[in-house]
Amino acid sequence: MSARRVIVIGGGVAGLSTALYVRKLAPEAEVTVLESQPRAGGNVRTLSLDGCTVDVGPDAIVTRPETGVALCRDVGLGDELIAPAEGARGILVAKGDRLVPMPAGMAYGVPRSFAQLATTELLSWRGKLRAGLDLLIPAEADETLSAGALVERRLGREAKDALVEPLVGGIYAGDIDRLDPKVAIPMFAEIRGSWIRALAKAPRPSGESPFRAPKGGMIRLVEALLDSLGDRVRLASHVEQLELRGQTVRVHRAGGAPLEADHVVLAVPPRAAAFALAPSSSAVADRLRALRTTSSATVVLAFARDAVAWPKASGLLVPRRAGGTIVAATFIAEKWPVRVREGLMVLRAFVGGDRSPDALRMSDNALLEAVLAELRRYLPLPEPSWTHLHRFHEATPQPEIGHARRVTDARDAVRALGPIHIVGAAYDGPGIAGCARGALATAKAIAA
Ligand SMILES: Cc1cc2nc3c(=O)[nH]c(=O)nc-3n(C[C@H](O)[C@H](O)[C@H](O)COP(=O)(O)OP(=O)(O)OC[C@H]3O[C@@H](n4cnc5c(N)ncnc54)[C@H](O)[C@@H]3O)c2cc1C
Repeated sequence: MSARRVIVIGGGVAGLSTALYVRKLAPEAEVTVLESQPRAGGNVRTLSLDGCTVDVGPDAIVTRPETGVALCRDVGLGDELIAPAEGARGILVAKGDRLVPMPAGMAYGVPRSFAQLATTELLSWRGKLRAGLDLLIPAEADETLSAGALVERRLGREAKDALVEPLVGGIYAGDIDRLDPKVAIPMFAEIRGSWIRALAKAPRPSGESPFRAPKGGMIRLVEALLDSLGDRVRLASHVEQLELRGQTVRVHRAGGAPLEADHVVLAVPPRAAAFALAPSSSAVADRLRALRTTSSATVVLAFARDAVAWPKASGLLVPRRAGGTIVAATFIAEKWPVRVREGLMVLRAFVGGDRSPDALRMSDNALLEAVLAELRRYLPLPEPSWTHLHRFHEATPQPEIGHARRVTDARDAVRALGPIHIVGAAYDGPGIAGCARGALATAKAIAA
């Protein structure tokens, strides 16, 4: 199959990085990116306000897998990457009206030793003893358990609710009792027997942060990708549907003549991909729609720095059992001090998702008020100097039990239609690293 004309639909990180890697691996290809919005970047949004740089969407890239950081290097951002500030690597967990430190060195909230649990206030003695039973409980044979059910079997309900759920539920804005352990807590899904014993034997974390981000915010990644792609990216180009003509794909755009391609990459959320393919095959569209997503919002609030004795931590997690709208919050001035002007503390709260879907039915003002009231349970906050709210509609994939099978089915069904590829976090693993991994694999397939 010739890689001559490649059309990438979607100008988020997945689409732009696929275009970048196709250009590298198949320099002879003619690559075009079609993005429906007048701006590129998708979920990546960096707010520049009042001397502050605040990522409203993703704010950090994991170093493992290294694909996300490698993408930054591939577009020349290697020297711009920074790690979160050293003094603020800890995380707090809400318990009643207090914020309690998560014990350091845990993995997904799972302890490396019973001793690590002994001093935490997050668990009662009964909860600690129950978690310690992990050392005795035989290996789980049931492959159909959710991440939540598996954690509960090994560590008990209390440790699940207080330690693991806030972290894992926070990453996905999701319901831990529906998530697939192979995706949500991959290192534990493979362990047969005691998790604590397996962690104790594993190399201890080096103490280096497992996150990086461009100093100027995540938008720098989008800017660098756009720079390298030039006029190959067409903004305000909404794709309505794909039409299959043998091994050629006709791409129908709103208000523009159709374009023809030898390869089409759908780098859009599964629902948008389903919409574009539904006229060709409702069965394929159904496979894509089976990959569920959830909606969330980010609320940014700035306060006078000296108004509160801020905790030395990168942020806080709110367990599901606490109720309310907030899933997690970041103390930006602690985590990324270079991005916040002196005299200010900027807080960024994530709300909604499967954890609190009602939150997103509130008006902007009501949601801001609810978030502020909830944060005041834990911190004596004054009125904010300024606020900013952004809603992310159906932006976060939910890798539910059986996720890998569902992705394979969707991918096979799409490939059976013609030279069409699907790429993005819903299929390739969470976050920017997942998008970059999928982009490279897709580009290799096209170049081959
Ligand atoms: C609040 C929040 C915080 C996050 N935090 C992190 C984090 O800290 N670290 C991390 O690694 N990840 C994080 N993520 C996840 C990360 O943002 C995503 O995995 C990633 O940005 C997804 O990129 P994408 O290109 O696959 O999709 P998107 O960013 O959704 O881009 C898809 C693009 O396709 C366009 N499009 C859709 N339909 C069409 C059409 N018909 N025609 C043309 N264009 C179309 C859209 O306009 C959009 O620009 C976060 C996500 C959210 C929502």
